[in-house]
Amino acid sequence: MPRELFVPVDIRDSAYDDRPLSIGYGQTISQPYIVAVMTEAIQLTGKEKVLEIGTGSGYQSAILGELAKEVYSTERIPELAEAARKLLDVLGYTNINIKVTGKDLGWKENSPYDAIIVTAAAPSLSDTLLNQLAVGAKLVIPVGSRWEQELLKVTRGEFRNTIENLGSVRFVPLIGKDAWDEYS
Ligand code: SAH
Repeated sequence: MPRELFVPVDIRDSAYDDRPLSIGYGQTISQPYIVAVMTEAIQLTGKEKVLEIGTGSGYQSAILGELAKEVYSTERIPELAEAARKLLDVLGYTNINIKVTGKDLGWKENSPYDAIIVTAAAPSLSDTLLNQLAVGAKLVIPVGSRWEQELLKVTRGEFRNTIENLGSVRFVPLIGKDAWDEYS
């Protein structure tokens, strides 16, 4: 995936550094290593319908577009959603759908999903998102404080969910109803 296309032109020289980079609006494109960890955790085979929370640059969406059947991605900043949509169109992806969302988490209309990846930090496990997962499906989500989180992989069971900790991470905050207030 040509990461240089997903970062602002003036920092293209840094596109292949293994670290997050600023994409404007106080947001970042995730570290490539973390994108790999999250993508690997949902074990795609090519048949899945996947939801991503936090389109940002569209980089993770594009990777999911390569590996899953259908991708739904939500973003709260309209300018980022629009730029990502344009770029993904130019790159020829026809299986990636992007929506600008308000306070409600996820994209309920197209649920249940086979996997959900949350690319912003949540204060707790969101029931709203767990309810959009099919039984047996996986949710990968950073949960913790605004500054430091644990990356959790939750597999939805019929009666109870199983949770695996994939390690410590640092993401920009998830903003909205089940998450943080924009100005807190
Ligand atoms: N996956 C992105 C990472 C972007 S950073 C990439 O590959 O570039 C996380 C993004 O989540 C930010 O763009 C931020 O605006 C967005 N975000 C924060 N809260 C959100 C919410 N409740 N719903 C959707 N997007 C949200």
